Amino acid sequence: MSTSITREQAARRQLADFDGLLIGPQDAGYDSARTVYNAMIDKRPALIASCATPDSVARAVAAARENGLPLAIRGGGHNGAGLGTVDGGLVIDLSPLRNIEVDPDARTVRVAGGCTWGEVDSATGEHGLATPSGIISTTGVGGLTLGGGLGHLTRKCGLAIDNLLEADVVLASGERVRASADEHPDLYWAIRGGGGNFGVVTSFVFRLHEVGNVIAGPTFWALEQSADVLSVYRDFIGSAPRELNGFFAFATVPPGPPFPEELHMRPVCGVVWCYVGDQDGADRAIAPLLDALPEPLLHGIQEMPHAALQSAFDGIYPAGDQWYWRADFVKEIPDEAVALHARYGAEMPTWKSTMHLYPIDGAAHDVDPADTAWSYRDARWGAVFAGVDPDPANVPAIRSWSIDYHEALHPYSAGGAYVNMMMDEGEERVRASYRDNYDRLARIKATYDPENLFHVNQNIKPQT
Ligand SMILES: Cc1cc2nc3c(=O)[nH]c(=O)nc-3n(C[C@H](O)[C@H](O)[C@H](O)COP(=O)(O)OP(=O)(O)OC[C@H]3O[C@@H](n4cnc5c(N)ncnc54)[C@H](O)[C@@H]3O)c2cc1C
Repeated sequence: MSTSITREQAARRQLADFDGLLIGPQDAGYDSARTVYNAMIDKRPALIASCATPDSVARAVAAARENGLPLAIRGGGHNGAGLGTVDGGLVIDLSPLRNIEVDPDARTVRVAGGCTWGEVDSATGEHGLATPSGIISTTGVGGLTLGGGLGHLTRKCGLAIDNLLEADVVLASGERVRASADEHPDLYWAIRGGGGNFGVVTSFVFRLHEVGNVIAGPTFWALEQSADVLSVYRDFIGSAPRELNGFFAFATVPPGPPFPEELHMRPVCGVVWCYVGDQDGADRAIAPLLDALPEPLLHGIQEMPHAALQSAFDGIYPAGDQWYWRADFVKEIPDEAVALHARYGAEMPTWKSTMHLYPIDGAAHDVDPADTAWSYRDARWGAVFAGVDPDPANVPAIRSWSIDYHEALHPYSAGGAYVNMMMDEGEERVRASYRDNYDRLARIKATYDPENLFHVNQNIKPQT
């Protein structure tokens, strides 16, 4: 009788006294454990290892490496392309790693690798402090940070990585190291934009800023006015004070409060604002844009805690919707591109589908392209074309709208895209997104992960 065992069984044996939870296809709870945010992703890992300590992360890394199992790292599970999980491999689930320590005097926060941004925003917000994150509270700190981190505070405080002071990393070898300006500076450079290519980050330390309450909310105009609104926005945002962030959006007014009933489910264009300061300052900062445009359908800015703004979209975008998105960095939006935006914005296939142009300037431009792995410091926007709907029957419609819109606008882009908003689009696309930084990343990859154990990501191939 054969005594051969599968690689999954061998990994399980190796982890027999594992201090976390191990879940395989035969275990109760497997289906909920393997589910990620994007319902279009339906992967079946061989083993999910929920890790509550850096030691258990190191053991799970060793079990994958020594048994030849493909390895995925799952932070918040939000990745559009489903890069937090893998078919037939081992998933390191970081969700039990949830500790957060705010040091209000030092203005820093230490965040464990499995936290989501809402938890961090609430903890820092108690002290009137914040660090830049994204726009949805359920997104993982791990994936968002390692890819860059664009959000409501980008213009004032930079990207998430611009505020990352140090990280504790479990390497492919199982060794645990600290990456900072003083320790493993090459690794510290690479993880600021290079994604999960270099190891599992079990804890991050971020710089905090005085943010307190913000003045935030949307201004919406009729869709027919989108070409005018986008042109005025394009010329306005780069010269607005850094305290003001505003991303342009095509969207549909959600069918509930606080939006007026007569606007429910109306497709619109607009800007979602976040001003760090008081109401008068916000009014003054936004006035040049409002003065140059017709009366909006809704100007809904109000004072709120930063953490409340960060969770304002959570109700519209719960886990379990179908997501297909494409992205590009953008330096300029010529009038021909404005006209194409107006055309595709008017063809949104479902009410949750959207297009955002996130500004990349202000503090994000204070950092040189070679200072971190995130190369596109000369871009002025990150564009994302997102098809979203709860109904799987609408996947063909959301997918083709996103692809067609992206392909129409790509000739006007800067070439690459923000890796956190890409699907699985191949090696050339990853290279284009790191540009001149790619070769340096590939050399650092060869130092820290020569066998490319960490390959379930926007992958950087080790350059030997
Ligand atoms: C609704 C929604 C809104 C979003 N909004 C924004 C936004 O405003 N700004 C923005 O910048 N991005 C945004 N994103 C994109 C987001 O940054 C990426 O999807 C990111 O990958 C999510 O991180 P995660 O930890 O939740 O993902 P996961 O799916 O868990 O992981 C994604 C990738 O990151 C790696 N990874 C995660 N954690 C770790 C870790 N601790 N150590 C090493 N590798 C790790 C994984 O290996 C994987 O390759 C949004 C995504 C969604 C779905």
